[in-house]
Amino acid sequence: MTADGLPRGATGAPGAYVHVPFCAHRCTYCSFIAQEGKREEGDFFEGVEREIRARQVEASGGALAAIRGFDSVYFGGGTPSYVDPLRLGRVLGTLEEVFGISSNVEITVEANPDDLDVSRLLALRGIGVNRLSIGVQSLVDAELLPLERRHDAAAARRAVSEAARVFGNVSADLMIGIPGQTRETLLASVDGLLEAGVTHLSVYLLEIDKAPRLVALKKERPELFPDDDEMADRWEAVDERLTAVDVPRYELSNWARPGFESRHNLKYWTLTPVLGFGVGAHSYDGRKRYANTGMLTEYLRRTREGISPVATSEEEQEDLPRSKEGLMLGLRLSSGVPSDTFEEISSLLPSESISRLEDTFVAGLLERADGRVRLTRRGVLLSNEVFSLLV
Ligand code: SF4
Repeated sequence: MTADGLPRGATGAPGAYVHVPFCAHRCTYCSFIAQEGKREEGDFFEGVEREIRARQVEASGGALAAIRGFDSVYFGGGTPSYVDPLRLGRVLGTLEEVFGISSNVEITVEANPDDLDVSRLLALRGIGVNRLSIGVQSLVDAELLPLERRHDAAAARRAVSEAARVFGNVSADLMIGIPGQTRETLLASVDGLLEAGVTHLSVYLLEIDKAPRLVALKKERPELFPDDDEMADRWEAVDERLTAVDVPRYELSNWARPGFESRHNLKYWTLTPVLGFGVGAHSYDGRKRYANTGMLTEYLRRTREGISPVATSEEEQEDLPRSKEGLMLGLRLSSGVPSDTFEEISSLLPSESISRLEDTFVAGLLERADGRVRLTRRGVLLSNEVFSLLV
């Protein structure tokens, strides 16, 4: 924890997110706002520029006046490494001009291994990027096939090693539950990424509900898919392996070498303002949350015609960090939440929920230690049970 009560790596300063909706090929399991090809790349980035500039008035004296000096900028997608790095550089220049960017900013680009040759890595570094988040998913060729990833394991290893050499701060995504994966092949992927030099790992459970081809495969070959217990076992194996090599977990699905936690993602879990730009981007400005349209054609039309791309917006909420939702987000972090915040918020729950929440301490899902409340390892596996009491 930092002196002002924030988890290690969090700063409390605002960040910016830019959603780039283009991918070379759509993976079977994709649930993101992304489309194949980049025909509209030029128009899209013009739209992003206009969107940022349209907030100039708000940023210089209006509603967003308090949001100055981003200390993280995150290009997510889609695949931002698939587009011309100079376009990302121009977005950075505009963000700097309108909102200001802190001198020690963390600038992350999500990337796919097949984009990352040395010249692309150097071009990204040249525009100021200092962190990559690479979608690897697995280092086993047979596991990459049903996901329809465009890279093979060797290309992923090469890309991660090169990126680690150029940036020194590289995250990789892995998946639990890929058809045909075993506990051993998953751990081999973890080890391979550590050897290649990652400083951060995000490990997610593969969800197939919205992936028709994977649903069909499961019907045909159910033995390729793990059940919930097996998924939990694999997650624990990953947690044990990474903890043993000094890459502790700091959030439900995220592990990092100390000092390499994602500053940007910590803003979401600590409810620190992040302004989102681009298709489907979400914003929290410290008072309320809103989201841009998720349709590229609509986004292009609105930004071209000078209309705000915001499609949905929540009511202002006075103290979101001290709400049930803030509590749930805080409990995702390994550092948990201050005990007094936990007691204050949980005391407002219906009496039945309060007593069921107390039961989760007895059952070993939550623990009180050092003035804080946090999920235990078992609690992480059953976090939905705890969170359902806070809804
Ligand atoms: S690279 Fe990511 S965003 Fe693009 S299609 Fe695959 S899963 Fe979706």
